[in-house]
Amino acid sequence: MPVIPDKKKSSYQLELERRSNDLLRVYNPMDEDAVVIWDLRSGGKIFRVPAKQEAVFPRYISEKYIKEMYDKILNDKAHDAIVKENKRRIDAGMAAMDKTFKTNEQMVFEQKFYNPNNEEAKKIISLLYVGVETQYGVDPMYQKEQEELGSRDFKDILTSVQEDKTKPTTVSKQNNSEYRCDWPNCDFSTKTKIAYFGHRRTHRKEIKKISE
Ligand SMILES: [Zn+2]
Repeated sequence: MPVIPDKKKSSYQLELERRSNDLLRVYNPMDEDAVVIWDLRSGGKIFRVPAKQEAVFPRYISEKYIKEMYDKILNDKAHDAIVKENKRRIDAGMAAMDKTFKTNEQMVFEQKFYNPNNEEAKKIISLLYVGVETQYGVDPMYQKEQEELGSRDFKDILTSVQEDKTKPTTVSKQNNSEYRCDWPNCDFSTKTKIAYFGHRRTHRKEIKKISE
């Protein structure tokens, strides 16, 4: 990657760079350890996620893990379904599915496993990605202090008073929680990371079939 002098970087670029140093917590639903290999050309760095356990890595490693494990889950599902379908056919006195391009039979059969619907894809990714463990260079306590200091500014007070007057009072306390579960059809939210991670783990039993 070319090195761009700091002065020329946009705030968006700087934010992306900061985020790449975030620590992300991931989960391995499989019965075997998973290994991510980074930077193979210079010898390779190895990152392990033990079976049925969580691990914390920098964002780029965690995202590579999630992508690879997501693909593995889909491939395993397709493979299992093919074995099962062929067994069913042979037991019934038929031939196994045709693997050649002549009929494309097996390819058509397995295709649907590689393209799960959005909700299923979201569940798999939610299972693998537990959440942000630590944001790089962001301290929530410091930020809260700054916000409180900042809120003494006349302009902010004026804006907030104006907003309060135009907003119905019942809604004003709603959007305060920091951690919101993104599991399909789940509306859980909390202010503490520990409660959030704990809640995320409860979804694992809903998706047990994935690792079987
Ligand atoms: Zn949830």
